[in-house]
Amino acid sequence: MNIIPEVAALDRDMRDWRQHLHAHPETAFEETQTAAYVADKLRGMGLEVHTGLARTGVVGVLRNGRSQNAIGLRADLDALHIHERTNASYASRNEGKMHACGHDGHTTMLLGAAAALKARKAFDGTAYFIFQPAEENEAGGRVMVEEGLFDRFPMHAVYGMHNWPKMRAGRFAMRVGPLMGAADRFEIVATGKGAHAAMAYQGRDPMLFAAHMIHALQTIVSRNLHPLEAGVVSITQVHAGDAWNVIPEQLVIRGSVRSFKPEVQDTIERRMRTLVDGAAAMFEMAASLRYERCYPATINHAAETEHAAKAAQAVVGEANVDTDPTPEMTSEDFSFMLQSKPGCYVWLGSGRDDSTPGLHNPHFDFNDDVLAIGASYWVTLAEQQLPATR
Ligand SMILES: [Zn+2]
Ligand SMILES: [Zn+2]
Repeated sequence: MNIIPEVAALDRDMRDWRQHLHAHPETAFEETQTAAYVADKLRGMGLEVHTGLARTGVVGVLRNGRSQNAIGLRADLDALHIHERTNASYASRNEGKMHACGHDGHTTMLLGAAAALKARKAFDGTAYFIFQPAEENEAGGRVMVEEGLFDRFPMHAVYGMHNWPKMRAGRFAMRVGPLMGAADRFEIVATGKGAHAAMAYQGRDPMLFAAHMIHALQTIVSRNLHPLEAGVVSITQVHAGDAWNVIPEQLVIRGSVRSFKPEVQDTIERRMRTLVDGAAAMFEMAASLRYERCYPATINHAAETEHAAKAAQAVVGEANVDTDPTPEMTSEDFSFMLQSKPGCYVWLGSGRDDSTPGLHNPHFDFNDDVLAIGASYWVTLAEQQLPATR
């Protein structure tokens, strides 16, 4: 393991920063204390700091030498609406909010990397440290791009990283092409005719619509997609009815769709519409579909993936870098940055053992032992991509 000495010297500090952030989680676009904490640390290191991009986003700028080369390294600031159950001494003090995805660790590793790169002065060019808000659900990454992230801070490539508890600490994984899926959501509203449960013949029962719909929606992936294309249709909510003896008038079905390709999204949406209209006709009621494309798939670029793998290999050794992991259908708003700039998103192994709680679990706690590994990866990547002339 090649931990950068300047990073190793920061290990104790990084653990403190991470645990401070963990104790004070803030959710989408409300990360004001977190952003102030980050900006303050960056200023303390002597970096140029820009705040207010996408409301609570922060960008730190570190220039060295005269080269026009520039890269962006990105972390996310936000927490989730989860009641923490870790019992850690630094557990959330903000009731109902929790860093259960490890963004406290991501923010800390990027701060550590900024401090180490500044101390070493071993690169030529500009490193941008991008701290984005609202990764969870609210697409803060997209808002940053829309508000001119890459115009205000011109860079050749952008890199992202997520801790991955499914993979053991000390490993990295990345691949060319899709690493994570596109996330869409849908809402189907069926409006029948309410009736007395005993006089069902006088109504139009939306429960029957739901029963058929739940089944029919599962035929899209199995019967309409090519067997080698990937898609997931998950129904996550069905709401209707309040009484034992009443057939309700209306019913709502909601769910999530995952895929890697826009053509697959098109097929799923088109078939969903046909099935909704068909079931509505079958049961003589009205039904509508709202289909919303939220996050695109996270697609890594070839050259930058090679750069990321090289940096990871320099830190943890070739045997610990998987360049062909099985992609996951979870999604990531770093995808919006990858649509605007070449780049690569990597997974940093953070699992302690097989029982390490997964992301978004109320028992999840970022593994502080990987802070130095992740920060060393950032430093190595920046120094390799912005080589100092000798
Ligand atoms: Zn998450
Ligand atoms: Zn996350």
